[in-house]
Amino acid sequence: MAHRSRPTICNFPGAGTAIVQQPLPHTFSRIPSLNPHPPRVSPCPPGTGHGGSPARPAGKGRTIQCRPGDACRSGAARSLLSIRNLSKTYPNGVRALRGVSLEIPRGMFGLVGPNGAGKSTLMRTIATLQEADEGAITFGEIDVLRDKEEVRKILGYLPQEFGVYPRISVAAMLDHFAVLKAIGKARERKEVVERLLQVTNLWDVRKRNLSTLSGGQKQRFGIAQALLGDPQLIIVDEPTAGLDPEERLRFLNLLSEIGENVVVILSTHIIDDVSDLCQRMAIISEGEVRLTGDPRTVVDDLKGKIWRKQIDKGELEEYRRDLAVISTRWYGGRLLIHVFSHEPLNQGFEPVDADLKDVYFSTLNLAEAA
Ligand code: ADP
Repeated sequence: MAHRSRPTICNFPGAGTAIVQQPLPHTFSRIPSLNPHPPRVSPCPPGTGHGGSPARPAGKGRTIQCRPGDACRSGAARSLLSIRNLSKTYPNGVRALRGVSLEIPRGMFGLVGPNGAGKSTLMRTIATLQEADEGAITFGEIDVLRDKEEVRKILGYLPQEFGVYPRISVAAMLDHFAVLKAIGKARERKEVVERLLQVTNLWDVRKRNLSTLSGGQKQRFGIAQALLGDPQLIIVDEPTAGLDPEERLRFLNLLSEIGENVVVILSTHIIDDVSDLCQRMAIISEGEVRLTGDPRTVVDDLKGKIWRKQIDKGELEEYRRDLAVISTRWYGGRLLIHVFSHEPLNQGFEPVDADLKDVYFSTLNLAEAA
């Protein structure tokens, strides 16, 4: 199979995003840096201990080599966004966030939880759109709760509701957003807008009115505007709700590519989106973080502890009383229950290969029972 190129970066908040090439073992098309003047990079020299990762970018057109002892941030697991003890109570008394702490490295981070868990409150606070009562958030060197202007320079935000879609062409609207993002010179703006229309697969509909786009196209437009200005922190809130399977796949492919370069926080209640895409995740309910980790590891931790059985609907209450039933679904006209148990269960139960849904439901179940 012919290998294409994958962009790899050394990310320094505020310094832009630099790209070098590595073999790409899959077939996604490459997302180029959207900055027409990306800073140059070269490999870290021997002795830095950075394993040939790119040197840190030094701004437009300059290159600085990593020095021995430098903290090269190309390491995927290094936390860039740090949220500490964040709390928020709305004036109506709802405690939406209760001491939330999370460490989020570069890559795709999935934030899952039921409706009302506090996901949007957390997203909006990181996006500087609302205040927290307590706590701290830093992105690299930036104090997110204080230096709002600095955050907005490196932020791309796709809210749950993108608002109204006016009777203006896709390209003209994106250009308008580019002006708002202070991408000032007309030629540079045209370049950026055209590249984004191609990256998000909207080139063919660029002359159409926004109001006539399909749900998936509108979502991709949302991502296009969120990518303006080469953001290093991208927040997407429930992006695949309402998309058909094909559009969802296309959208997730796009997100996964973006996630190779920057911090992407994907807030969702669709667990499959997280298992498909994210290197790290957190489960949140009632404003509290219930679990955080690598999706594969948290699934492995459940090995041998999930059991399933088909039962009649009338038996459910009894099973719920005696066992930790974490999920139920209809299957062939009967109920299929999944039960969490450290001990093997007999009486018709069989072991299940746990998946992220089992992790999610058992975590919420435990939280509820506590
Ligand atoms: P999620 O995004 O996980 O559905 P939200 O952050 O939207 O959760 O909401 C968390 C809780 O805060 C919910 O109980 C919600 O009703 C409440 N809430 C959200 N926004 C407001 C607001 N502006 N005023 C009062 N309560 C709010």
